[in-house]
Amino acid sequence: MKAAAFPGTCQLCNGSFDKKGMAKRIAACGEKLKDAEAGFLLLIEGLYQPKYWLYLNAPAEATLVDLDVFLRKIWVECCGHLSKFTIGGTSYVLEPRDSEEGDLDEDEFDEDEEDLFDEEEEDDEFGGDNEDEFDERDDLQDDLFDAKFMEDEEDDSNESMGITLGEVLQPKMKFSYEYDFGTPTKLSLKVVDVPKGKAAGREITLLARNNPPEIPCSRCGKPATKICLSCIYGNEAWFCTQCAEAHTCSEKALFPVANSPRVGMCGYVG
Ligand SMILES: [Zn+2]
Ligand SMILES: [Zn+2]
Ligand SMILES: [Zn+2]
Ligand SMILES: [Zn+2]
Repeated sequence: MKAAAFPGTCQLCNGSFDKKGMAKRIAACGEKLKDAEAGFLLLIEGLYQPKYWLYLNAPAEATLVDLDVFLRKIWVECCGHLSKFTIGGTSYVLEPRDSEEGDLDEDEFDEDEEDLFDEEEEDDEFGGDNEDEFDERDDLQDDLFDAKFMEDEEDDSNESMGITLGEVLQPKMKFSYEYDFGTPTKLSLKVVDVPKGKAAGREITLLARNNPPEIPCSRCGKPATKICLSCIYGNEAWFCTQCAEAHTCSEKALFPVANSPRVGMCGYVG
């Protein structure tokens, strides 16, 4: 199999297909999942690690917060870092204090997630200086649709992730996500298909996912099971179980090889 094929598994039929073929496959399997037709079909990939990919069904009524929570759970969460989406040059961040707008309905989150937001509420990074800009939200939203996709330049204004996907996403649109601004994991997202039916709640569904890539042990070539965070920027960081035992770094530096673009970053364990 070609390395570029990046095989994965369809969650609907359990069939194995490469990343590109999967979109067609999902359309064919979609009959089995009626609600799926009501949502955006999103392809999400590691920006610098395209071997990690997901296809999601996300209803138009789901918010960027819902998508953030989903991505944290399946791929990136390690210790409650900040995150943001960038769509058409505008950044969307979590703004727990923006409660007047009703953007964050905290009742919808379980306790773990509430802890997460509590932590970020204490973080002052996005507080203070941008409150006036909330009034301009509607204008900005109008501008958004004219903005070019994937613009690198971002202005200082941060919009709220409380906005729904239906309000910001357009057919074929590409956008990006970043988790942890210190040791970031960057994802690229693409709208492969748009909702055909009515909104179906806010639940985001995993439709397909890459199979765990085979990463060889840096020393012997057997499949790696551990990654050494102390050696991650050197030549030898991936180890099979045997070579991990023989590795001289502290055991605390050895982390499991997770099927995620965040593997080897911060304290990510999968
Ligand atoms: Zn299928
Ligand atoms: Zn972390
Ligand atoms: Zn080995
Ligand atoms: Zn090491």
